Amino acid sequence: MLLCVESDILWKRLGVAFRLRDTLRRILAREREAGETAVADLEETRRQLHHVTARLRQLEEEREQMALGWAPPPSVVNAPAAAACPVCTDHYQAFVPGREARIMACGHSACGECLDSWNKQPARSNGPLHCPTCRFSSDVYTVEALPRNFALMQ
Ligand SMILES: [Zn+2]
Ligand SMILES: [Zn+2]
Repeated sequence: MLLCVESDILWKRLGVAFRLRDTLRRILAREREAGETAVADLEETRRQLHHVTARLRQLEEEREQMALGWAPPPSVVNAPAAAACPVCTDHYQAFVPGREARIMACGHSACGECLDSWNKQPARSNGPLHCPTCRFSSDVYTVEALPRNFALMQ
């Protein structure tokens, strides 16, 4: 009888131990899964960081070249924004006052600054704006009245 009770207790303990083992296995599996996801995330972040670092290095090189006055940065040369004013030959800049491309009635463009100084010359002052390239007269009197040519400033 005593043996029977003892073995009963033993079986119960064994049952508890097995359940405990299963629970531990489940927890371990979950932890491993979370760990793998974290590693994948880390890998992706590392890849992105690599790209950003490479781009940063490229920009740094361009900046150094510009500082040394070697050449305009490749990103400017290769971009369609390489369009330049035919008068001053500087590149147009959409957000710098006077450096923006203005298109005239003839279809030619020039930067705001050049158009302004060109049309302020004594021979042309007080008249409508003329094109420095073909002399065609646009029917306006101020540079601000000419539309911006965004096609040349992308
Ligand atoms: Zn110009
Ligand atoms: Zn023209």
